[in-house]
Amino acid sequence: MATQAQAPAEPAAERSPAPDVRLADLRKTYGDVLAVDRVDLEVGQGEFFTLLGPSGSGKTTTLRLIAGFERPDSGSIELGGVDVSSTPPYLRDVNTVFQDYALFPHMTVLENVAYGLRVKGIARAERRQKAEDALRMVRLEGYGARKPIQLSGGQRQRVALARAIVNSPRVLLLDEPLGALDLKLREQMQIELKSIQNSLGMTFLYVTHDQEEALTMSDRIAVFNEGRIEQIGSPEEIYEHPATEFVAGFVGVSNVLEREGRRFTVRPEKIRMRPEEEPQSPGLESETGQVREVVYAGMITRYLVDLERGGELTVIRQNLETTSEQVLEERGRRVRLEWRPEHTFTIEAGRESHE
Ligand code: ADP
Ligand code: MG
Repeated sequence: MATQAQAPAEPAAERSPAPDVRLADLRKTYGDVLAVDRVDLEVGQGEFFTLLGPSGSGKTTTLRLIAGFERPDSGSIELGGVDVSSTPPYLRDVNTVFQDYALFPHMTVLENVAYGLRVKGIARAERRQKAEDALRMVRLEGYGARKPIQLSGGQRQRVALARAIVNSPRVLLLDEPLGALDLKLREQMQIELKSIQNSLGMTFLYVTHDQEEALTMSDRIAVFNEGRIEQIGSPEEIYEHPATEFVAGFVGVSNVLEREGRRFTVRPEKIRMRPEEEPQSPGLESETGQVREVVYAGMITRYLVDLERGGELTVIRQNLETTSEQVLEERGRRVRLEWRPEHTFTIEAGRESHE
């Protein structure tokens, strides 16, 4: 294609808006620990973007760099197209919600939420109005006069959220905010958080080590491993097309096979398990083997199968009509595993090491 020597400058109004967050070649070390290494990412306006990875993979450090609590060794941080790498934290248009949200115990809920506005010098009536709006947003209308000690854990976390959104920051940073809640409440709050984010249209940058949480809530996910990003994509892309062996193993069950020099993965719920003596179905990938382990988990059963040609695969079946006794009898059985070729994804080998 011919290039134009002097392309007219794009009118400002037609330029696509700058991403709310842009990290370029970000790096942070603590002594000889490489906490964040060559991180590049862009978070769009109104996006629910999640940093997912195991403990120690650099998620919190990345958030602290964005908030300005840490200074990078190198690389740049932009918020809304403006480089804030040397801007102090209180001048960055972000707010952070932590897992161990510290509410002021002697203040009421309303005072807690309005505190940041008071510090900013906003007039009393407006403060009250905004704090009440924020409390309504997190479904704590009418709780303003209570003290934090009179609230449940989930309610306190919602106050912390109201306190962060009351300032209408450009980006809300959330570091494992549901980590202290029990599973039921956490699952409920995941849905609530997502719907709050939706109705506010606010950009959320969310940190979790919980893959299910990330898959449930996010528009896009960056998978972290040892300070670096292994893959960025939508939940579907990350789950169904893991780019590396690490992602395949960390997000979902690791089902990696090596055949003819090629490494590939197939998700356990995509595999059909049948008695070995039944004929192979045309057009499907097929392996035979023996069931080594059966784990009954209520809604589903997990089978670990040793394959004749080497390697092992996990298979998940819904317990549609089977009882726990029936599934446990499958242990030791010879089986044929089959799946559609389009459910197989070639993956890269794991990174050797940081250089
Ligand atoms: P994550 O939030 O993913 O669990 P972190 O960002 O907290 O990971 O940590 C990344 C790495 O940096 C870890 O090896 C951790 O031990 C190290 N690290 C984090 N903060 C500090 C610090 N203040 N001093 C020294 N090492 C740190
Ligand atoms: Mg952390």
